[in-house]
Amino acid sequence: SFNADVVPQAPEDPLFGLMAAFRRDEDPKKVDLGIGAYRDDNAKPWVLPVVKKADEILRSDPNLNHEYLPIAGLADFTTASQKLILGADSPAIKEKRVASLQTISGTGAVHLGALFLAKFYRTNSQRTAYFSDPTWVNHFQIFKNVHLDYLTYPYFSAKTRGLDFEGMVNTIRNAAEGSIIVLHACAHNPTGVDPTQEQWKEICKVMQEKKHFPFFDCAYQGFASGDLAKDAWAVRYFIDQGFELCIAQSYAKNFGLYGERAGCFHFVTSAASDAETTVTRIASQLAILQRSEISNPPAYGARIASTVLNNKELFAEWEADLRTMSGRIIEMRKALRSKLEELGTPGTWNHITDQIGMFSYTGLSEAQVLKIRSDSHVYMTKNGRISMAGLNTHNVDYFAHAVDKVVR
Ligand code: PMP
Repeated sequence: SFNADVVPQAPEDPLFGLMAAFRRDEDPKKVDLGIGAYRDDNAKPWVLPVVKKADEILRSDPNLNHEYLPIAGLADFTTASQKLILGADSPAIKEKRVASLQTISGTGAVHLGALFLAKFYRTNSQRTAYFSDPTWVNHFQIFKNVHLDYLTYPYFSAKTRGLDFEGMVNTIRNAAEGSIIVLHACAHNPTGVDPTQEQWKEICKVMQEKKHFPFFDCAYQGFASGDLAKDAWAVRYFIDQGFELCIAQSYAKNFGLYGERAGCFHFVTSAASDAETTVTRIASQLAILQRSEISNPPAYGARIASTVLNNKELFAEWEADLRTMSGRIIEMRKALRSKLEELGTPGTWNHITDQIGMFSYTGLSEAQVLKIRSDSHVYMTKNGRISMAGLNTHNVDYFAHAVDKVVR
């Protein structure tokens, strides 16, 4: 019989626990800088206007039904997703070197990729994956669940609050040949620190020397800089250099489709005469894994994204919406930095505007994070990460004052 005593109480997910604490707080000045979801200038969720339009188009279609999608998902969606991340004129697409499956958002894509690697990746005997330190915490659990070992490479320099480039490259260089290196394509979560293009080139070179396998996690394309191509630069560069790699793509942030769970997993093989048959075999195995995990992915979010991605005018409107979101966040970075500098808050604050995307690693200690929560009702994760989207013209000064108070 099942002995329930063997099931210990698991700790609450820290991020979702933080959200619950925020909801319980009755102070009208409270500020939520926890979860990474875009908010408008009134701290409200924002449905992208182009998503509203796509929704109306879909709903007015008399032929819309609720049948199952194929195991690999909506073909119009996965094809458009390839073009989006790889570039419409990517040789990898032309040469049919890409296997793509629709997934349960980015999380599902990371999971499917990890599961596939656990089953088939045999290059080095240890098959160790490397994550940046720090990384999106779910990477650890996802890889652990599929029994892939992992280590970390240095990433964030507490001193400069920027990239520890030397530490990163040295560890990647010293890793066992053929290790899996997980890289954030852009807008690194949680630090907001990305390598420059010159640094990416160096990372690429070292990874080539060591025959490592890149696993790109791309959760913020277009959301980071407002420019879809710019945010995909690293992925495209690695493919140009001949890498075989995989990509986990999320549409949660860039379409604001958080709860719809639209995402895509891509496996790109390197150019070879038999690349097309290799990809066909890989796709067939991915389909088997998908079948046992989720049978087939959810339809609605993919339909919305597909409607936009495959229509020129809607695509242009989406790009404008991306600029609205990224632009507002960049404005908040500027406002926060200048307020802190104006207050003469001890320390340097250039990292706030140097960092990019949804998050900023403020450099506040855990003790300061807890104090700012009890004193000022500001909620952020214990590592000092703030979701920039939680700041707006009404609360940024208040937040700056709260930081100033806790730092002094
Ligand atoms: N990877 C990273 C680095 C992320 O920040 C996120 C979003 N928090 C994801 C993957 C996946 O998110 P989702 O499953 O909502 O697409």
